[in-house]
Amino acid sequence: SGVGASNGILIKQGVALEKLSSVTHYVFDKTGTLTEGKLRLVKRFTAEGISPQTVLQIAASAEQQSEHGIAKTIISAAQQENLPLLEISRFNASPGRGVEADIEGQKILVGTAEWMTLHDIKLNGEWQSQVNQLEQQGISGVFVARDQKLIGILGLFDTLRDDAKNVIADMLAQGLKVTVLSGDRQLVVDSVTADLGNIQRLAEVLPAEKRQVIQRLQQQGDFVAMVGDGINDSPALIQADVGIALASGTDVSIESADIILSHNQLSQVALARQLAARTLRTIRQNIVLSISYNVIMVPLAMMALVSPLLAAITMPISSLLVIGNAARISRIVKIGRAH
Ligand code: ADP
Ligand code: MG
Repeated sequence: SGVGASNGILIKQGVALEKLSSVTHYVFDKTGTLTEGKLRLVKRFTAEGISPQTVLQIAASAEQQSEHGIAKTIISAAQQENLPLLEISRFNASPGRGVEADIEGQKILVGTAEWMTLHDIKLNGEWQSQVNQLEQQGISGVFVARDQKLIGILGLFDTLRDDAKNVIADMLAQGLKVTVLSGDRQLVVDSVTADLGNIQRLAEVLPAEKRQVIQRLQQQGDFVAMVGDGINDSPALIQADVGIALASGTDVSIESADIILSHNQLSQVALARQLAARTLRTIRQNIVLSISYNVIMVPLAMMALVSPLLAAITMPISSLLVIGNAARISRIVKIGRAH
């Protein structure tokens, strides 16, 4: 635990390390975990007669009370354009879908295509094709509607973390299974993770379903670690055999995890794996070491073949051997980090 902590890996309970060394399947959340979670507003489409500023201002106002990364991005984009947030009178968030709010007596919806359909707002061919074009470039389209009419689409883009490609390539090379689990659209997930090779890509998974996906993998016989950052990942973090949260995530996800990565780097997942394997090996070596000592020395002592002085010297030496062997872990993990 100490070696982990000094490398930014906080392990809540020792048993997590033990379990981590037997994980066969790693499941990663997309937004904020595989990607940096620094979404940027890169494109905007508007309905006829509506200005891009209006769409942004209305969306940002409706998102005021949401803790989602999308909300934060939209609000800061509005602030950059000096658009004041309008007062809202009612607010409701639907996890994995979007938000609704009332502004000046008008009903505002911000979220996925499904969120619009649920409110009987039809997406005709033109809106479909606009959002399709965005998704093919890995840009997530967020729809904005006012009083049952679509007024615009905000295109948000997020880049993969620098180390995502290497970490996943290593896992695949070691014969581990890797899955990306996202609430975003399939096209976006495919495009953003295109460089990650032969992994499973599950998209449009609602927060409540993320837990079921983990459960299904477990029923197939996999020992699953879930890596996530958002509130919506918490049930999956708890369901997984090992839950790993990025410290940049929400308090809820950190609370639900067994291991927390405080430097927010995916390479720490690999380091935690190495630490887990190494710790377990050391524990086994130490058990063999101390049992051997006792098996040899206790009968000798019973036969009065060990003088009190020799016993007084060898007993602490056996403890020191075990401690010394454990201390070697720190050296090996530091080498691992430099690598
Ligand atoms: P992920 O699994 O990628 O972290 P979520 O499950 O949180 O994503 O969200 C899935 C989708 O639901 C998002 O891509 C977005 O389109 C929509 N969504 C969720 N919350 C909001 C929100 N507060 N405002 C707008 N759209 C949202
Ligand atoms: Mg996320």
